[in-house]
Amino acid sequence: MTHHEETTVPADQHRIPLEALRQRLHCTGDGLSSAEAAQRLLEFGSNELRVRNETPEIVKFLRQFANFFALLLFVGSALAFFADYLKPGEGNFYIGVALLVVVLLNALFTYLQEQQSERIMESFRNMLPPMITVQRDGQISRIEARLLVPGDVILLEEGDRVPADGRLLEVNQLKVDHASLTGESEPQLRKMACTHERLMESRNMVFSGTLVQSGNGRALVYGTGMNTQIGQIVQLTKAAGTVETPIRKELRHFIRVISAIAIALGVLFFALSMVLGNPLIGSLIFAIGIIVANVPEGLLPTVTLALTMASKRMAKKNALIKNLEAVETLGSTTVICTDKTGTITQNQMQVATLVLGEREWSAAQSGLQQAEGFADAWAVMVLCNNARLTEQHYLGDPTEGALLVLAQRLQAIGDVAARFPRLHESPFDSARKRMITTHKAGSGQPNLACMKGAPEVVFTKCTHRLHHGERVEFAESARRTALELYEVLAARGERVLALACKTTDADAASEEGFVYLGLVGMLDPPRPEIAEAIDRCRSAGIRVFMITGDYHTTAESIARQVGLFTGDGQVVVGERLLEMSEQELSVLLDGRELVFARSTPRQKLQIVKGLQKKGEIVTVTGDGVNDAPALKNANMGVAMGVSGTEVAKEAADMVLMDDNFATIVQAIEEGRTIFSNIKKFIAYVLTSNVPEILPFIAFVAIDAPLALTVVLILTIDLGTDLLPALGLGRELPEQDVMKQAPRRRDERLLTWPLLAMSYGIIGMLQAAAGFFAFFVVLHRGGWVWGVELATSDLLYRTAVTSFFAAVVICQVADVLICRTRRQSILSAGIFRNKLIWVGIAVELALLAAISQIEFLQPFFGTAPIGWFEVSLALPFAAAILLGDELRRCLIRRDNRFVQRWLTW
Ligand code: ADP
Ligand code: MG
Repeated sequence: MTHHEETTVPADQHRIPLEALRQRLHCTGDGLSSAEAAQRLLEFGSNELRVRNETPEIVKFLRQFANFFALLLFVGSALAFFADYLKPGEGNFYIGVALLVVVLLNALFTYLQEQQSERIMESFRNMLPPMITVQRDGQISRIEARLLVPGDVILLEEGDRVPADGRLLEVNQLKVDHASLTGESEPQLRKMACTHERLMESRNMVFSGTLVQSGNGRALVYGTGMNTQIGQIVQLTKAAGTVETPIRKELRHFIRVISAIAIALGVLFFALSMVLGNPLIGSLIFAIGIIVANVPEGLLPTVTLALTMASKRMAKKNALIKNLEAVETLGSTTVICTDKTGTITQNQMQVATLVLGEREWSAAQSGLQQAEGFADAWAVMVLCNNARLTEQHYLGDPTEGALLVLAQRLQAIGDVAARFPRLHESPFDSARKRMITTHKAGSGQPNLACMKGAPEVVFTKCTHRLHHGERVEFAESARRTALELYEVLAARGERVLALACKTTDADAASEEGFVYLGLVGMLDPPRPEIAEAIDRCRSAGIRVFMITGDYHTTAESIARQVGLFTGDGQVVVGERLLEMSEQELSVLLDGRELVFARSTPRQKLQIVKGLQKKGEIVTVTGDGVNDAPALKNANMGVAMGVSGTEVAKEAADMVLMDDNFATIVQAIEEGRTIFSNIKKFIAYVLTSNVPEILPFIAFVAIDAPLALTVVLILTIDLGTDLLPALGLGRELPEQDVMKQAPRRRDERLLTWPLLAMSYGIIGMLQAAAGFFAFFVVLHRGGWVWGVELATSDLLYRTAVTSFFAAVVICQVADVLICRTRRQSILSAGIFRNKLIWVGIAVELALLAAISQIEFLQPFFGTAPIGWFEVSLALPFAAAILLGDELRRCLIRRDNRFVQRWLTW
């Protein structure tokens, strides 16, 4: 604390004259030179907050033990130690130790996986550095916010996160949200004058970490990095992901069910065994075996692995995930609500048509400059504009950029902006849909006000129009003509703006009495890949709604061009939503093809919530500051990486680096694959539970010799099964994932058909293979039913090893059939997933080691086996492979019985 007090500079930056602050910061004009900035960067360090890591690593590690599976294994271990205490020297002590090691390794593995995924998320964040507009070398450019230094002049715009502490040099209805700094939720209007004794309260300042809610402004940076208000508070409020993702919910359900099965079976058979007169010690071991057999130890690391792999693949395709589990949510999407401008279209606006007075001109037509009213329209395009031309292109909003590009082509812009200095700006926002600026004209002349915006909005503010160079009344018939022209332009898919101006004495023009000048129509071609992406959504059972601020005719034209409308599409104007009852909205949202035109971000939120109420999983895109509520409320918020504001990016779960709708569709495919892959994992690991449990049941129920020991159960679950199972988490999407309907909202990871397949069929086949091998070996060794077998007996050990080998070999077949849920293994590519084959190789190597290496045999209770013993399981493995190939073939043929009962 004292340290801070020593280093803080006097907090008077809000009180002293601007000149004094400039002098203190050693900067003269507006902005630094790049050389000076580079020098200062070395001196002051980068503009970043160094936040202490909140959760200690040890806590993160210990958290891995707080789940049912770990607890069950702890209980198993305790039981083993108890059994050893009752009757030492039976090897139960080692089982207890082994179980502890298992829990420890499992926790360690999951912990490392999570660390890795955190690193990946971190690297994703680094790919999205916050950007800010600065004024350096007398030029405007966009740089990474961490490169800011004291003395820089920054331009703040709606949706920016203020990157440093600064004193305002210029404000246009700049409103800043201080919630992250002071907790105050109402955005505050900024001013140019000092309004309060205390720095933090004074309205002529902006502070790092706060959000620009609306308007714009310019500020002189005086504090960066830790030397800011928020840096001194240090405690950064990290966005806490409290919403439970569908996959988390599913996993919890799965763990609960499986644990319940394990406990119930354990207790049941312990009791049964006691009733049948087995000694306590034998019954205890029995309970341990059942519990251990049922717990799918590798599940948690596999889930993380599957999520990590998918998020990496998605990053390669330009979709950055901010929260790992969100990947899967995307896969269950049933409705996508998408923006139009920039997402469906290229955001490369180009003026196509100009309407001056009542005459329509193509923008390329010659002689335009001589057209009536051209000079005024040109001035509005140039003056009522916040974009800037650069050497290559322009900087700023594409709509405004397009106007400047056209204006420059028709007549050099030069220093017009300087000759008509701006006195006031009432900025554009997507609710008001218009922008008004007031400018100082030559001395002795009244001020000039310029307006551009959505025609129907501009029209209401116009009382006059130009006719033969005269101001005449904007009469009803002229209005109708203007509206008709508007309709013509919009029907071609053009985005239309109306232009108007007036003279005024006020420094901030009122919103009435404007003179209507004409219309500008600009084309923004659809992205070429959109039509196909929309098609894919359709066959994947996902509805795509377009929500746009644009005019309904324009929106409809674009919707037809990209195939969003194929027939009975409906365009709904945003305002109508306001009048609708909840009931009506709900009926409307059943529509297959919907476009919402002239809608505001508030209506976007309304649509998202309406859909969610109907049980839809909604993915929504957004770019503006006002989109944040919709992005946060949606199941999956997607922000635009290029055109999106910092605020939107922060509110989103995923950021599109290329702003492209088609990327969302690719990401959905990955998301669907994850759910599928986790299911495959579960189908695989559950299967071997049957051959693990049945020997104990046979032992108790029909007094058969125990065909598999607890040690070997552990060896299967944690040794031979583990790597192949992990490999399933890495399966690539199946060919037809995007031809299926979205996962039903009530579809679980664990379903009856899955249990029927794993436990009922494949598991039974494996157990049959095991018992077959077990009894053939015993029989060949001269054993007859009823004869006691000592655990040290070589024949018994050979038979147990054969059972174990049979399970391992059948599991090789099992992992191959679990790779696909519908596809044939041949079309999926037998060798396409390398990790599976590494897993199988390790699995077989373990089998060889455990059976053949002499010094391991006492510990595992095994004996060497030969090719004969191994071959006993082969027919069963072949049956599993071929039988399931047939099942999947029937699924693809839509066989009703298989579809219903045997599709997991
Ligand atoms: P979207 O981004 O969905 O296309 P917007 O809310 O950005 O919709 O725009 C709505 C309407 O507002 C546009 O159709 C256009 O008429 C008008 N408009 C867009 N940008 C500007 C701007 N910078 N200045 C004035 N009017 C604008
Ligand atoms: Mg827009």
